[in-house]
Amino acid sequence: MARHLLTHPTGAPRSSPISALAHRTQPRIAVVGGSLTGCTIALLLLDAGFTDVALYEAAPGATPREGGLIGLEHPALDVLDRLGIDQSEFVAYDSETVWQVTVRARQYIHTAQQLYPGRNTTWTLLHRALISRLPHGVLHTGRRLTGIDATYGQPLLALADGSREVADLVVFADGRASTGRRLLDPSRRLRYAGYVAHRGHAPTPEALMRDFLRLEPGPGCQYNVAPVPGGLDWTFYLTCTPADYTDHFGAPPQRRMFALPHHIGPAARAHVDAHATRLLPASHAATVHATTDRMAVPVMDIDPPTRMAWPVGSGWAVLLGDALAPVRPHTARGANNGIEQAAGLAAALTQHRRFGADLQAALRGWQHRHLPAAVAAVHQGPAIGARLGLGTPARSPQPTSNST
Ligand SMILES: Cc1cc2nc3c(=O)[nH]c(=O)nc-3n(C[C@H](O)[C@H](O)[C@H](O)COP(=O)(O)OP(=O)(O)OC[C@H]3O[C@@H](n4cnc5c(N)ncnc54)[C@H](O)[C@@H]3O)c2cc1C
Repeated sequence: MARHLLTHPTGAPRSSPISALAHRTQPRIAVVGGSLTGCTIALLLLDAGFTDVALYEAAPGATPREGGLIGLEHPALDVLDRLGIDQSEFVAYDSETVWQVTVRARQYIHTAQQLYPGRNTTWTLLHRALISRLPHGVLHTGRRLTGIDATYGQPLLALADGSREVADLVVFADGRASTGRRLLDPSRRLRYAGYVAHRGHAPTPEALMRDFLRLEPGPGCQYNVAPVPGGLDWTFYLTCTPADYTDHFGAPPQRRMFALPHHIGPAARAHVDAHATRLLPASHAATVHATTDRMAVPVMDIDPPTRMAWPVGSGWAVLLGDALAPVRPHTARGANNGIEQAAGLAAALTQHRRFGADLQAALRGWQHRHLPAAVAAVHQGPAIGARLGLGTPARSPQPTSNST
């Protein structure tokens, strides 16, 4: 299958991209990636009166997709509120309390209480709330974008099934292995940070916990646990060499960026269970041991982004969410950044369409406002990892490809 590349990735486009959307009352907007960021921007655009919005998602519609706990801060919650999504639909436990516990020799030795400026949801609850609001005909599942061609002026999307779609604006919300980032900003490659977020959904009675609990049992690990519908969601961060990662999950971290339940081999289970036994207080170790439903995510780093929007022929392409800047999970900023960037982009495009605001200036203003938060989160991740003694030092990254 031929891969289509941008014809004008950074150079001068053949017609002015500034006027591209201004001459139409309804620009055609293609959103690539139907997870949290992609669904949010699609809904915001539809809500703002854009009617020609298509959302392309690579996963087939029939694929069951589940994800764990995600903390959303008030600005992101407010965006969802403005979309008319009631918090009760995606926040099962409204506790703001975070217990931060230092553990040594499997005993609690110091406990501090903090308040989180937001609420916890899960990927599954939030995605269901978002996707159920998409009008019929907007979401196209099983449609993987492979390239963009601007030879004829307007961006032309190439899809893996051989079809082509035109758009005035392409919004890449296609996650950390983003095709959009590879096309628009190819020098920014993902690097494995040397540790793994092991995740599990334990069928432990939820009534036992209401708050978020973070355990720090010493250098080289961290354990988070919180209640979710049907049990407890835990994340256990453990250092892991690339060779061990391949042994545990069947492929190197840069190829297996999401280890799904069927990728979790006996060696991965034994590794996590042994660390739980050795490091966690007995009740938490028991939670881990009782978990059959497990996943894992390699923690990755990337150079900070320097821009968010690119002219493509007579149109534009932008990167949002993890496609722009995948950040380490401890920052708890990935979904927050994606939702906030989506809201800012919808506002900029609305000013352009309704009031004739200059598109290039509007996109520049959007970038100016949201880029610093993305850059800050990229820098924050390695600092947290270093404090916890997790993974490889940030100064000696291991280069990897960002292909899936
Ligand atoms: C352990 C853990 C804890 C986390 N905790 C938090 C937290 O507390 N707070 C927070 O804000 N964030 C948190 N995050 C991060 C958050 O989960 C991600 O930042 C967020 O889900 C990214 O959403 P996204 O829509 O940008 O990308 P993704 O969810 O990765 O979605 C990308 C979508 O694009 C599709 N796609 C990919 N390529 C193509 C293509 N070529 N064509 C079409 N479709 C394509 C994929 O199938 C996918 O559906 C956490 C992450 C982890 C791993």
